[in-house]
Amino acid sequence: MKKTALLGSTGSIGTQTLDIVRENGDIRICSLAANRNTELLEKQTREFLPELVCVFDENRAKDFRDRVRDLPVRVVSGMDGLIEAACVPSADIVVTALVGMIGIRPTVEAIRAGKDIALANKETLVTAGHLIIPLVKENGVKLLPVDSEHSAIFQCLQGNRGNRIAKIHLTASGGPFRGFTKEQLSRVTVADALKHPNWSMGQKITIDSSTMVNKGLEVMEARWLFDVSYDQIEVVVQPQSIIHSMVEFEDGAVMAQLGTPDMKLPIQYALYYPERRFLPGKRLDFSSIGQITVEKPDPEVFEALKIAYAVGKKGGNAPTVFNAANEWAVARFLKNKISYMGILEAIHTALDKVPFIDHPSLTEILSTEQTVYEVLHCQQQ
Ligand code: MG
Repeated sequence: MKKTALLGSTGSIGTQTLDIVRENGDIRICSLAANRNTELLEKQTREFLPELVCVFDENRAKDFRDRVRDLPVRVVSGMDGLIEAACVPSADIVVTALVGMIGIRPTVEAIRAGKDIALANKETLVTAGHLIIPLVKENGVKLLPVDSEHSAIFQCLQGNRGNRIAKIHLTASGGPFRGFTKEQLSRVTVADALKHPNWSMGQKITIDSSTMVNKGLEVMEARWLFDVSYDQIEVVVQPQSIIHSMVEFEDGAVMAQLGTPDMKLPIQYALYYPERRFLPGKRLDFSSIGQITVEKPDPEVFEALKIAYAVGKKGGNAPTVFNAANEWAVARFLKNKISYMGILEAIHTALDKVPFIDHPSLTEILSTEQTVYEVLHCQQQ
């Protein structure tokens, strides 16, 4: 019986994780954590009966405590509560599916507590990879990627006995604006950006896919997960989302992982690694696919990708600045407060104005995030 803590249980990855738990029937959910959606969280709590539930929002936590009074569950809140949910003693693996930098501290504490991590929170490695990777090694825990591309790379590396990676070909779908001109991009609306051609995901990541900020964050994640340099990671656009990523070895052989675009596969693979379980759903039908095409990302349209490489190579707190500025800007864009191109402008402004820190500590990473918000907020006044 796998014992799992699930942070971010009401989001897209969280609910799909619980689908897998339901379908397999041999995973125990020890703790759940969510931010605001207490209605769904209550249903999940009644179904999976965790011993601990964190409702991040303190006021909602009070109300939630009343609602589940009849259950043997402890309800906690805030960052301390989130850390408690991540470190719940009975769990041996933590699925970190929180959106944003809020996921970093609970992940650090879970690693320190000896838990394996099924990582679905990009910000953790993007902003704190230099701290997380040594911590993972020190504590002898597994860091299992849940993102489809990183899971693909991880799957391609199975059975590889110490052979070096020559190159990672990180695939991208190109999102809804592949082939657009800059002029067309300037007229993009929230509804346009939320229409992803292949993947069904949360709002923030869907916008990030359209700008390719998401791919930029994934490049930085791949650098840490697979210990390669930025020059060894190449982004290729694969519009049908059939190839989920590829690894090239020194002899030129390329291994790829293919499949239908279904996040349940990487989630289930991380939960049961190295076992492969039956997963219901559509299979690739090669006779009807016709063609799998690959192209270069257009640097004009996907400027964010170029910035991400520069930011990744610079290191220090630059990836944090990039990520926090994007997080701030996407939230504003979703509320129609800034334009689509305003997302890139915010990233440029923050990178210009926020002081650089080399080898930032966890505290400095978190304070950098605050500085970015302050700088952008002042700029807008
Ligand atoms: Mg991805």
